[in-house]
Amino acid sequence: MTQTSRETPKHLFALAGNPNCGKTTLFNAITGACQHVGNYPGITVEKKEGFYSLNGRQIQLVDLPGTYSLTAYSLEELVARDFIVNERPEVVINIVDASNLDRNLYLTLQLLELGVPVVVALNMIDVAEGRGVRIHAEELSKRLGVPVVPTVARRGEGKESLLQAALETARSGARWEPLRISYGPDVDPVLSEMEKIIVENGFLTNLYPARWIALKYLEEDDQIKAKGRETNPSISEALEAIAAKLAQHIQKTLDSYPEAIIADHRYGFIAALLKDGVVEQRIK
Ligand code: GDP
Ligand code: MG
Repeated sequence: MTQTSRETPKHLFALAGNPNCGKTTLFNAITGACQHVGNYPGITVEKKEGFYSLNGRQIQLVDLPGTYSLTAYSLEELVARDFIVNERPEVVINIVDASNLDRNLYLTLQLLELGVPVVVALNMIDVAEGRGVRIHAEELSKRLGVPVVPTVARRGEGKESLLQAALETARSGARWEPLRISYGPDVDPVLSEMEKIIVENGFLTNLYPARWIALKYLEEDDQIKAKGRETNPSISEALEAIAAKLAQHIQKTLDSYPEAIIADHRYGFIAALLKDGVVEQRIK
């Protein structure tokens, strides 16, 4: 260990957000000239990282690809999710577009379900305010259970408070704590059954929360299923069989499929979270 690294403890943070939420603008405002661009190993997705220091701490900041979710359907989403799971950043700074809040919170929910410590940058509040929309950040923070800091990335506003909040979260030793949301009477019991099998067998639980793995089997996530088969084929088969049975049941009774039910419940959760007291529409 060099003298410098002993004097300046290093932290790893990541920036996540939907495309066009202001992620690059914020990244540039934070890291200035201290950044470099490369690729993730073996693929053409751009990897941007930069550095900044705060309160005598050196922070390495990785700008994850812009994504709407953390599924395995696109390379960007896989890259973002794999980075979080494998590199274990101490904090994910999740930038959300305040002028398009409910839609942006879908990714936030994904991050919270994965369990990584999150600090939300409520960006573009100038745009929201221009439309007569006021968002009560403190109330949103209370309901999400994570810090929420209003920012206007284009003007650098809120940047200091955001970085302080992120550092405080890291220094408080925040641990991975996956959010559990209800997926309704059809899915919840099946999730519990799968979760039990996953926990009892330590099936991929060194990397992912048990309920999250169960959800991925229900969502037909190819990456997780492949990893599962590699790790323990018979447990993976058992989980796939349970998922297939639920899919059949949902097809028959609701003419739908598990993924759609799961997405509906996430949108429902966000709608309930935002109800009464977070978003205020002022008459202009
Ligand atoms: P990214 O796709 O998330 O990296 O988004 P960018 O950083 O490229 O920003 C998209 C657009 O939004 C750019 O034109 C930015 O100048 C603009 N922008 C970023 N932050 C803000 C903000 O807080 N307020 C306003 N009005 N515009 C912003
Ligand atoms: Mg960008």
